[in-house]
Amino acid sequence: MNEEKFELFKKGCLGTCWYGKYHYMEPWVGCSHNCPYCYARFRKSVKDKLKENGNEFENPKLFMSQKDLLDEIKKKTYAGEIKILKLSRFTDFFVPEFVKNGLAEEILNILVKSRVERIIITTKGIGNDKIAEIMGKNKDKFSYNAAIRPLNELDFKENVFSAKERIEYASKINSLGVLTTLHLDPFVADFDDGEGFREMMVFAKKSGVKRAMFSYLLVSDEILEFLKDILKPDVFERFSGIYDLSSKRQYLPNQTDTVYYSIKEEIKKKSIERAGKILNSLEFEFVLCSLKSVKGLNPDIIKEINICDGKFYA
Ligand code: SF4
Repeated sequence: MNEEKFELFKKGCLGTCWYGKYHYMEPWVGCSHNCPYCYARFRKSVKDKLKENGNEFENPKLFMSQKDLLDEIKKKTYAGEIKILKLSRFTDFFVPEFVKNGLAEEILNILVKSRVERIIITTKGIGNDKIAEIMGKNKDKFSYNAAIRPLNELDFKENVFSAKERIEYASKINSLGVLTTLHLDPFVADFDDGEGFREMMVFAKKSGVKRAMFSYLLVSDEILEFLKDILKPDVFERFSGIYDLSSKRQYLPNQTDTVYYSIKEEIKKKSIERAGKILNSLEFEFVLCSLKSVKGLNPDIIKEINICDGKFYA
């Protein structure tokens, strides 16, 4: 049974580390970044909403009038029930169309005046100067998280700005005093923990961003099927080989569309240690999401402080 409905505001899901402490906001449905591994594309609530709204996933659209959307956001966030707000789970708050037409900025202007205490943006996009100004003026309210991947042969062909441009924007936000973290998400074991990763992190460090979290990509049958058409056959074979296809597990209760395969334990362990070595050598402050579940890691590389307790980028 799947009980989840697509809503503008939604309490954090049962099964995630911050359950009950935060809300998600989904101001529109769909995402033009169009990442082929995106979990949202295959979630039932998103598929149903896209159907009802009549748009494709890669062409995001509002699901109410702009006026109603802004009124609704104001009403909910001024009421005082929402303390921590995450943008967003099923879309990206900085898709180019809504940065360009000023809607993202308008929404942020409402949020900073509301009773929301913390606004956590995790994005593969880039804001503009006006958005940076809002964040800088309200730096204690924001946590900014730039989601990036290093360059390597695993090219997902997302419709996004380069990692360099996104790090540059993160660097700007960081310099304004906003808590800024690089989200190495999705991080792909065996591909993303090599030289391209080191180079990207050297650039980030030089740009002044010194915090990172990494979270490994999980896949479902649907995601694998989708990726098969996008990746070169030899790359797809190597990629699918990192997953344990006997390890299917449902991640969120009551949501049967959250069944994913996990990474083979030995591959994951080696990848964590390789990435950890690089992050340690560059003196990054870092955590790994779900580290708790990996046994037998080298304690000289991965220490207690690297275990995410859900507060690192809160
Ligand atoms: S940016 Fe996020 S929401 Fe958008 S397509 Fe990529 S993974 Fe999905």
